[in-house]
Amino acid sequence: AFLALGVLFFALALALSHYMSKRAMGPIARSYERQREFVADASHELRTPLSVLLSSIDTLQMEESLEQDAFARRILSNMKGEVRRMTKLAGDLLTLARSDSGAVELQREPLDLRQLAEGVLRSLQPLAEAKQLRVELDAPTALPMLGDTDRLSQLLVILVDNAIKYTPDGGAVRVAMAASGAGAAGAGGTAGPGRAAAAWLDIAVSDSGIGIPPEEHERIFQRFYREDKSRSRALGGHGLGLAIAKWIVDTHRGTIAVDSAVGEGSTFHVRIPLG
Ligand code: ADP
Repeated sequence: AFLALGVLFFALALALSHYMSKRAMGPIARSYERQREFVADASHELRTPLSVLLSSIDTLQMEESLEQDAFARRILSNMKGEVRRMTKLAGDLLTLARSDSGAVELQREPLDLRQLAEGVLRSLQPLAEAKQLRVELDAPTALPMLGDTDRLSQLLVILVDNAIKYTPDGGAVRVAMAASGAGAAGAGGTAGPGRAAAAWLDIAVSDSGIGIPPEEHERIFQRFYREDKSRSRALGGHGLGLAIAKWIVDTHRGTIAVDSAVGEGSTFHVRIPLG
């Protein structure tokens, strides 16, 4: 009888906790979903007025009557910087809100990561030149893989843009990429299914910059995390870049980690399966 009572009590507790968790989770999950939709809609809606603002500032900057007005030009240039910052923030919030819904479909298309990296480095070259940074790419002539072209290029932009941002003038930024594991060479024909699965791609983005203290290495991948808020705000950051980078790597079933010491630069290591 004692045993039966115990079993009954256990079953009752189980049923009660199940009922409570359903009752509690329902509204919370629903309100979370509403909040996510709100962030997605709001950031989407912000993009149009922001692009109108940006082109209005462009028009004013070309206005001849303002050419000699140093004060107006300075204000316009500040406004442009802030509008760009807001546009980036709206875009990043939209990306993360969409990623939370789990509805983002990852494209798995054949691409050449070397070509992708060359394009990214070309587009960021003006930023590097403005700081007299040396930028190097160390990769085989072709790096064929399956992945999402837009997302992987976004990942490289985030990492290289940070490397440039957090490296003092005259420093160096290096992107090294290599395929390894069985079947990495691509052709071959000998790679069975088990072997092909072992092939991956390693990307390392290094800089000779300010570095990151060890206690921050995990936290920098969290949303809105900025090591030194005033400093990175001055640099235009809002702490979402690495959270997006991590999401992109996760959806490619890869890993991302940082190796860094203060004053000695940082290296971000990414490993993604090739196919
Ligand atoms: P942010 O927009 O602030 O750059 P991120 O999410 O890209 O946001 O990075 C989060 C924080 O990680 C940054 O504020 C900075 O403190 C640190 N960080 C990222 N990349 C580097 C780097 N290459 N060198 C030094 N610190 C970095």
